[in-house]
Amino acid sequence: MDWIRGEKLGHGSFATVNLAMAGSQSCGLPPLMAVKSSGFSHSSSLMNEKVILEELKGCPEIIRCFGESSSYEKGEKLYNVLLEYAPGGALADKLRNSGGEGLPESEVRGYTKALLKGIHYIHKFGYVHCDIKLQNILLAANGRVKIADFGLAKRAGGRNGGAPGCELRGTPLYMSPEMVAGGEQGPPADIWALGCVVAEMLAGAPAWRCSDIAGLLMRIGVGEEVPEVPRSLSEEGRDFLGKCFVKDPIKRWTAEMLLNHPFISDQDFEDDGLKNREANTPSTSPRCPFDFPDWASSVS
Ligand code: ADP
Ligand code: MG
Repeated sequence: MDWIRGEKLGHGSFATVNLAMAGSQSCGLPPLMAVKSSGFSHSSSLMNEKVILEELKGCPEIIRCFGESSSYEKGEKLYNVLLEYAPGGALADKLRNSGGEGLPESEVRGYTKALLKGIHYIHKFGYVHCDIKLQNILLAANGRVKIADFGLAKRAGGRNGGAPGCELRGTPLYMSPEMVAGGEQGPPADIWALGCVVAEMLAGAPAWRCSDIAGLLMRIGVGEEVPEVPRSLSEEGRDFLGKCFVKDPIKRWTAEMLLNHPFISDQDFEDDGLKNREANTPSTSPRCPFDFPDWASSVS
């Protein structure tokens, strides 16, 4: 595979993402891509991501994968995965640039519908994303959402899929009650995280306000408390979030059920919302827009 590494677009704990230009020998690759790279000693989650993305190709709401390669750079052997380039950057950047006010509800409805289509696709193929959050939702040039970062994704029903486990994986602010309580992380965990994303897009700040991480995990895992929703939210929006924030994962609505919820199924807002929406300039090094950097980082 013939490509040239360009400027840095972002990074996480083990991987770095750069722009990639297709070389003259490349056949069928888009001229601009993103390349996610990690050293071979830390490449297992990136390899996992590549395998899952190959299986999920065909869904416009999921970032496309064009293949893998290895390279030697600065004396290190790297594992690289070539991805569709999303020039709009992460939704987290867009929210930060919106001035902390949150996005208009009509726009949030459009993003929510697209995210649900992608999540439904992931679940239909038997996977759980396990790290749905604003930093992992990217925007294409036409403003469409692209779910990215499948580094923690896994088969539903596999380890931690249904039975209680002991591993805490994911990002604290988006963790579901069953995950916090017993390490269980099936498809309903993605729906809880989606609820957190929707509430955050509407409010312009994370769904949970809490001053310490242990306190946050207590509030998520114990008792009946769920995240607050903005006062100005429509009845449909409140009801939608209520279905995402059901503490019992068995009773929480599925992606398929939510796709028929009036918050997103009633109106023809999606394409309207996208019209004329210019992509943001590519983000530089993305960071958490809020004051909880560690809470917005994945743990695995
Ligand atoms: P990590 O697993 O390290 O969190 P991500 O896949 O989430 O890696 O990528 C880290 C950041 O890099 C993203 O938040 C985003 O800003 C940027 N990025 C990742 N993939 C792309 C892409 N395909 N197009 C544009 N930017 C990207
Ligand atoms: Mg990420």
